[in-house]
Amino acid sequence: MIALDEAQQRVLSACPVLGAERRPLAAALGCITTERIVASEDVPPFANSAMDGYALRSDDVASAPSALRVVDSVMAGDGRAVEVGVGEAVRIMTGAPVPDGADAVCMVEQTRTEDEGRRVVIEVAVGPGTAIRGPGSDIACGAEVVAPGTELTPAHLGVIARLGLETVCVHRRPTVGVLSTGDELREGPGALERGAIRDANRPMLLALLGAAGFPTVDLGIVPDDEATLRRVLTDAVATCDALVTSGGVSVGDLDVVRMVLTDLGGPSMHWMQVAIRPAKPLAFGLLDRRVPVIGLPGNPVSSLISFELFARPALRRMQGHRDPFRPTLRALADHDLPRRPDGKIHFVRGWARTDAEGRLHVAASGGQDSHQLKALADANALVVLEDGDGARAGDEVRVLVLDGHRLGQPDG
Ligand code: AMP
Ligand code: MG
Repeated sequence: MIALDEAQQRVLSACPVLGAERRPLAAALGCITTERIVASEDVPPFANSAMDGYALRSDDVASAPSALRVVDSVMAGDGRAVEVGVGEAVRIMTGAPVPDGADAVCMVEQTRTEDEGRRVVIEVAVGPGTAIRGPGSDIACGAEVVAPGTELTPAHLGVIARLGLETVCVHRRPTVGVLSTGDELREGPGALERGAIRDANRPMLLALLGAAGFPTVDLGIVPDDEATLRRVLTDAVATCDALVTSGGVSVGDLDVVRMVLTDLGGPSMHWMQVAIRPAKPLAFGLLDRRVPVIGLPGNPVSSLISFELFARPALRRMQGHRDPFRPTLRALADHDLPRRPDGKIHFVRGWARTDAEGRLHVAASGGQDSHQLKALADANALVVLEDGDGARAGDEVRVLVLDGHRLGQPDG
């Protein structure tokens, strides 16, 4: 057996980081930047009002109350040259350029108008600079706004758009081919003949990949037939950056998957027995010396857990993520989570939720056998139980929150 972190490092270190491409901002969410973006201008570009109110000279309103003559009105987008003289005020809306001569804005709530709006009484003393957003007060010209290696969030895209940029240089996302192997696999409606089951892994893995932001190619179900598998994999290597297969990697399996992968992957192929439960067997290598293939076990629960622990991080690394692993959280076990020492890390399907005080709790969800996918559908997290005797009710345990799930709502 090989330790989990060792197996993960073996996979990650062999995966190539893909090169750069330029993408429109609308297609760059979640991508990892390869360039440093520096502001070429001040944002905002001009001093503008942070409030609806009156632009004025603070010297005129050093004591309260004081009355000023209203000489003009400016809205956001108004580019006229407007001036505020001694004893004067200009009605101003949020975002409008501050008129020349003015050095402060008094919010409308602290004023009242007289003489049908021709005069305004400022009811408080207003210091210089009040409610004015200076040029560059968000981003100063010359400042770095995005470092290389940044995972682009919606707010990053807003910042980049603010600077007038329409595209951004990012790592290419791997296109991932997915196939299920097994003579027993069918899909769709219709009666199943004896011995046949429906393919659960491919729809699940395609969804996991989609949720992680990777473009996918559905390579279908491939029977345990050497020639067919060889043809599908050989074709896929030409169009995909990585391949995820399920089935045929356990020790007792028909040798077809092993034979074909060994042939196409040569000495790069590793057949690992990882010290985890479920999902012990894992195949990994490079086809054609460059396309990573991750061979997940066929049992659906093992397939998903193995995807989470190996495939997702590997593909994220290819996409340029510096830290491709999911963070784990700490939660309080609601009940005993017993296990026996066996040299493995155990992953227990569970439901994590916050209590009224905001503390995270977790309880196991349903049957824990590796074919029992339903219990995983009823789970939103995996409890990580290190080798040993497990955890007692009230113990703090590590949980890994799964894709597509929110943490449970507070109870009570
Ligand atoms: P294998 O890893 O091919 O030995 O398969 C282990 C178990 O998982 C067997 O019970 C298979 O029938 C089952 N299995 C394999 N692939 C799939 C799949 N795509 N969907 C559902 N079950 C599968
Ligand atoms: Mg099989």
